[in-house]
Amino acid sequence: MTFKSDIQIAREASKRPIQEIGQKLGISSDDLLPYGHDKAKVSQKFINSVQERPDGKLILVTAINPTPAGEGKTTTTVGLGDGLNRIGKNAAVCIREASLGPNFGMKGGAAGGGYAQIVPMEEMNLHFTGDFHAITSAHNLLSAMIDNHIYWGNALEIDLRRVVWRRVVDMNDRALRQITASLGGVSNGFPRETGFDITVASEVMAILCLAKDLSDLQKRLGDMIVAYTRERKPIYASDLKADGAMTVLLKDAMQPNLVQTLENNPAFVHGGPFANIAHGCNSVIATTTALKLADYVVTEAGFGADLGAEKFLNIKCRKAGLAPSCVVVVATVRAMKMNGGVAKADLGAENVDAVQAGCPNLGRHIENLKSFGVPVVVAINHFVTDTEAEVQAVKDYVASQGSEAVLSRHWELGSAGSADLAQKVVETIEKGQSNFTTLYPDAMPLAEKINTIATKIYRADAAVMDQKILNQLKDWEEQGYGDLPVCMAKTQYSFTTDPEARGAPTGFTIPVREVRLSAGAGFVVAICGEIMTMPGLPRVPSAENIRLNDIGDVEGLF
Ligand code: ADP
Ligand code: MG
Repeated sequence: MTFKSDIQIAREASKRPIQEIGQKLGISSDDLLPYGHDKAKVSQKFINSVQERPDGKLILVTAINPTPAGEGKTTTTVGLGDGLNRIGKNAAVCIREASLGPNFGMKGGAAGGGYAQIVPMEEMNLHFTGDFHAITSAHNLLSAMIDNHIYWGNALEIDLRRVVWRRVVDMNDRALRQITASLGGVSNGFPRETGFDITVASEVMAILCLAKDLSDLQKRLGDMIVAYTRERKPIYASDLKADGAMTVLLKDAMQPNLVQTLENNPAFVHGGPFANIAHGCNSVIATTTALKLADYVVTEAGFGADLGAEKFLNIKCRKAGLAPSCVVVVATVRAMKMNGGVAKADLGAENVDAVQAGCPNLGRHIENLKSFGVPVVVAINHFVTDTEAEVQAVKDYVASQGSEAVLSRHWELGSAGSADLAQKVVETIEKGQSNFTTLYPDAMPLAEKINTIATKIYRADAAVMDQKILNQLKDWEEQGYGDLPVCMAKTQYSFTTDPEARGAPTGFTIPVREVRLSAGAGFVVAICGEIMTMPGLPRVPSAENIRLNDIGDVEGLF
């Protein structure tokens, strides 16, 4: 059997004008700000006008620890959204926007796959509606204002060695990781060491995705710490009076983007914070708006459930007052086999024993998610190579854990393949068993929050923090930051800090290397392992093969 590529399927889509998609959600064309024919922003005025409406049900899609075999969270999110619409529900999907940089490194889009995709997929993966450019500009405006302030006399007494605000660009460019700025003489300022991060790692991105509205956005931007004085007194973006102009640059980017699935159902694609040093899910404003307009909203959290769902629940839901009615954990037979020790090259052959051996990874995620008080449904994202016996092995295992696994064939068949999953999710929600609680209270000391995540979610013996880190956390508590949640930055491939440790390991600790304060976004980042905030390109970047063909279509991107 041969299958069409994602891009082929996306190009064959019969898209409807975006006004028609808006109509499905009750948004009149006056309240849609179209970007071409198939993308639109939803006006802030309209969003303000629906605030008194009741909320629909929120469904979180997360996954087991990723393996190179692939899980398909976005694909399943889109498939489930279409499946819900197919069984007569009014459902919308919310996912993240794509970063430009990685597209030119390795192949792979962020709009789903097969017959479960969001269109227009090329635009979504390239400049889209310009949100990331706006974020880049807002971020770099603040950078320019810092150096300008120093240049004109440095009234705030910023210590040049302690400027923590860097610059950003939406490109994988390792040459910019660490640079010396202001070289070239007196008129160029005071030379100092700094560097670039990729735009999605900007705190501005995290803030845009957590802010409730424009005034909340401005307040959070002002609260960002950009530098310290020699006496270690923090300097805030508001001290530089940058927050107002940054908000102006971001005012359009703050409005969520509406597009459609291959089956012409509404999809919000908005914001895209890093999933390591930030919380890794689409904007609060997109999710809360979707909940006012649809009865069911399906959304995705980045990475595996130990990182993505944990942050979605402990950071996003806590801050935005959201509560999921159901969590869907995506698993694949192939990834279970890899967790069970099979090499990638051998994934083609049936191996029920390996599937069974890999299942405890899934089991631990199910148990963790249930501890948040939310019902769990497992979606087996079907690959055409899966055998019936292998699928049955996953189903049996999940049943032994007190949950249910449903096979979903959305990649191959669209909503016809995901209707069963949709049905199961609706049944689960209608039982009304969701009683969501966060893992830890705001009042818990910061070090204890880190330790709670390490022991309760990762099942480590403890988080290991040296005195310097403990003192830093204490200082922040004294400065009034003790109520913040923590944002864990560690490998997505394992419950441990060792990416090779698959399955459900025990008998390990989580060493915390560094802690950072994102005072505007409102979380403390605990860095456990090497975290890259400016990726590089591979030896042969896919950019070498990307081109326009004779009829003006993009080739080589996916
Ligand atoms: P995630 O959101 O978990 O990173 P995606 O949904 O983006 O994963 O899927 C990653 C890639 O795997 C996509 O290119 C998609 O086309 C492919 N994929 C997902 N599900 C399937 C499937 N059931 N069969 C074949 N390919 C799939
Ligand atoms: Mg995804």
